[in-house]
Amino acid sequence: MHDSVTGPGPGTGPVRTHCPYCSLQCGITLDASVRPVILDAQSDFPTNLGGLCAKGWTAAELLDHPQRLTAPLVRDSRDEPLRPASWDEALDRVATAIRGAQDRYGRDAVGLFGGGGLTNEKAYQFGKFARATLRTAMIDYNGRFCMSSAANAATRAFGIDRGLPFPLADIAGTDALMLVGSNPADTMPPAMQFIDAARARGARLIVVDPRTTRTAAGANLHLQPVPGTDLALANGLLNVAIRERLIDVDYIAERTTGFDGVRRAVRQYWPDRVERISGVPEADLVRAAHILSAADHAVILTARGAEQHRSGSDTALGFINLALALGLPGRPFSGYGTVTGQGNGQGGREHGQKADQLPGYRRLDDPVARAHVAAVWGIPPSELPAPGLSAYEMLDGLGTEGGVRVLWVAGSNIAVSAPRAGHIADRMRSLDFLAVSDFFLSETARMADVVLPSTQWAEETGTMTNLEGRVILRRAAVAPPAGSRSDLWVMRELAARLGRPALSDDPQEIFEELRRASAGGKADYSGITYERIVAENGLFWPCPSTRHPGTPRLFTQDFPTRGRQARFHPVEHVGAAETPDAEYPYYLTTGRLLRQYQSGAQTRRVASLSEAEPDAAVEIHPTLARRIGVRAGDLVSLRTRRGRAVMRVRIADGIRPDTVFAPFHYGGSGAVNLLTNPALDPYSRMPEFKACAVSVDAVVDGPGVIPPESPPPQKDLHE
Ligand code: SF4
Repeated sequence: MHDSVTGPGPGTGPVRTHCPYCSLQCGITLDASVRPVILDAQSDFPTNLGGLCAKGWTAAELLDHPQRLTAPLVRDSRDEPLRPASWDEALDRVATAIRGAQDRYGRDAVGLFGGGGLTNEKAYQFGKFARATLRTAMIDYNGRFCMSSAANAATRAFGIDRGLPFPLADIAGTDALMLVGSNPADTMPPAMQFIDAARARGARLIVVDPRTTRTAAGANLHLQPVPGTDLALANGLLNVAIRERLIDVDYIAERTTGFDGVRRAVRQYWPDRVERISGVPEADLVRAAHILSAADHAVILTARGAEQHRSGSDTALGFINLALALGLPGRPFSGYGTVTGQGNGQGGREHGQKADQLPGYRRLDDPVARAHVAAVWGIPPSELPAPGLSAYEMLDGLGTEGGVRVLWVAGSNIAVSAPRAGHIADRMRSLDFLAVSDFFLSETARMADVVLPSTQWAEETGTMTNLEGRVILRRAAVAPPAGSRSDLWVMRELAARLGRPALSDDPQEIFEELRRASAGGKADYSGITYERIVAENGLFWPCPSTRHPGTPRLFTQDFPTRGRQARFHPVEHVGAAETPDAEYPYYLTTGRLLRQYQSGAQTRRVASLSEAEPDAAVEIHPTLARRIGVRAGDLVSLRTRRGRAVMRVRIADGIRPDTVFAPFHYGGSGAVNLLTNPALDPYSRMPEFKACAVSVDAVVDGPGVIPPESPPPQKDLHE
């Protein structure tokens, strides 16, 4: 790699790079001359402009953390503990398990499970390793749990899925912003500067959330629906907009198709009926529709609160219908978008680690796409497997007849993050063999037969695609611990052991191949190079040639559909798969905290973050707390049809009295995914994390909160 790309080199001075966590991918300067420290937040990186949250400021602590895994671990039998091993022994065991399972049960007996935090190069290579090296159909990733519903909706409506079809900074220029199931004040605080700038110009903020989050507390209007009723709300808003002639008839006629079907479908969502379904007062619904339609520029953003439902795709479509009827997509400082969660949640869903997808956002069941990618990989298209199972479906079948018998998990902590996590842990125990790549001994790694210690964010170079579709370069700034290896190297070594064609482990070489594989696809990266990313502070896809400037704003002229028009889709409210009853009388909803991230495998190990938010606490309205007979700090038992968790009570008068909220960052007995419902969206196969029926009772005796796992330092493993 050229110096202008790599920077000064690991450990030799300050390196401009990016935070390892969320999709904002805030620009930072990291210095590892003595030990890794974050010197500053880049003031010229467009998504953070000098801002960082507590997670970002402390991210360097992950690099020289005493619990880093620095040697492979293997288990001689299921009854014995993990022990340190050489890389040769560990890789031989993985290769033997793969070969044995495929010989005995067929190619699809081996599965791969990736993550939305992997670089584009790793996500691409993971997909290629599955389809071309192992020739298995069984690959999916944890982004299926995050972004698949919004992705499905955007693809159906706009012909393309890019979370934000405009730069984040455009939010500052809007006059009305509706956030549906999104809490950026906690999840990505630096993004609030754009919302605050819009508010300072007089913009109105509408927040839709069953909780009064930090974001909702600052809104002009807070709509607080029953969990699982956002779709009724979207249809109700459109009903008001049509009835009160607030829609943009010229835009609808020129730029869209299918409006008549939607007009008919939303007729029955008159506001007082929507109030009965959602609990949102009719007057607030009407007010929200007027705020959005009266604004010169308006933006509607959905996030996981709206999308992680069994009808998440249709819910996103409901808000897209509203945005299209108001004439927003493609107009300046206006539009619809979804707020991506994971660091590479966008790129991770574009380049082939999804069960149904090939690089460049191509479909695996499209013969033309298969021929293109097969040619880049130098194999006949017939060698590519068919689409495999979605994440939950694959995990649900682990160890069963016809299911996956050998699983390799990279960059994901499914023992904590999968829905119905107790059942998924049982399924993992029934595997013939489990390999896990991680840099800490996560709850999932603890269950493995072989643990492969990975290099992490600042130790290797690779590209990420942020929530705006901006491709950025994360540069190696720190030398990795001697015993850790990149997942790219692991794939190269396994391919060699399996006697399959050679794979590169050089990120830039892999990116060059990704460019060719994505050329002509929806997510076309063919014009993006490492050098251009550095010189231009990131580049937006699609970028189909090296002379193309990239595409910060989509839909300004037309939509990438067959007729070049956006498509309305009639959608109907169905509600949550489980609603409260006598046995489980409340709704449970889940989400994120300010100082924790995803399954907490990283942030729970950062002292200041862990001290501030040490274990799972369930938010309960004072009225409900009185009914149950508990006070702040007491322990409660949460039960659903799938399991039990124990958490401390946090009294929150801003939450609906019929709903409790728990964060999903914790393992042990406080793991909320022991409770969540895997009811799947029929289009996206996204599980319904955000709503299920729960009982809440005071813990009178018996075990309390078992702390999330905190393994002893692995100093003995350091080389
Ligand atoms: Fe920025 Fe997200 Fe990192 Fe916080 S976690 S510093 S918002 S990239």
